[in-house]
Amino acid sequence: MNALEIKNLSKTYKGGVNALKDMSLCVEEGDFFALLGPNGAGKSTTIGIISSLVNKSAGEVKVFGYDLDTQLVDAKRQLGLVPQEFNFNQFETVEQIVVNQAGYYGVPRLLAKERARKYLSQLDLWEKRNERARNLSGGMKRRLMIARALMHEPRLLILDEPTAGVDIELRRSMWAFLREINRQGVTIILTTHYLEEAEMLCRNIGIINHGELIEHTSMKALLSKL
Ligand code: ADP
Ligand code: ADP
Repeated sequence: MNALEIKNLSKTYKGGVNALKDMSLCVEEGDFFALLGPNGAGKSTTIGIISSLVNKSAGEVKVFGYDLDTQLVDAKRQLGLVPQEFNFNQFETVEQIVVNQAGYYGVPRLLAKERARKYLSQLDLWEKRNERARNLSGGMKRRLMIARALMHEPRLLILDEPTAGVDIELRRSMWAFLREINRQGVTIILTTHYLEEAEMLCRNIGIINHGELIEHTSMKALLSKL
């Protein structure tokens, strides 16, 4: 089963930038996949399209077999997104943010509360549950976004530059957490421009440059070539 199937995807932004040019990519269920590439390569655009925040110009995207064009609700249920920018309501508390998120996906309130406790504890945020998001440190906000993305228990977790601006200690603990989530069966796709991060975490890797996928290989094979 493919967690993600992208066929001939193109994106031209208003103003004429060709951010993606006929890109195709498959990621298998269970994979820990890195989309690597320099700034401006098209990584965020790809993620934006998969999570239906950005309209594609052409092509086809399927998430666990659900087509974004014809089965959007089902496709969206399969995936959790950790965007690069903090996009939660800064005046809500940590617990409100994650419980409300579960609500959007129709998770019953009691179950949402249970999951909030589980994921906030795992991400070392449970003691902060009554704190307003605006009072959290940058690292805590990042962990909050990961907890939020997991509340409807998606089969695919997508993270856009999850450790950008995060210190090395927290980066390591985030890596450990993501490895564990993947071990439990969640497919993970992350974007990064650090080869080191991809090397530490990922089984397979796609390299994107100027809107084109120029390499799709296992991490092992890539490292043996360097
Ligand atoms: P990456 O995430 O790899 O840094 P992006 O997907 O953000 O790359 O950007 C790919 C290209 O699309 C870049 O040239 C960028 O300037 C352009 N771009 C991204 N977002 C927009 C937008 N909203 N409007 C116009 N151009 C954009
Ligand atoms: P912040 O930047 O939010 O202040 P810290 O680096 O102070 O974050 O992290 C606080 C504690 O939480 C540290 O002991 C750190 O190891 C732990 N921690 C951070 N992220 C995770 C995680 N994903 N899972 C488990 N523990 C974590």
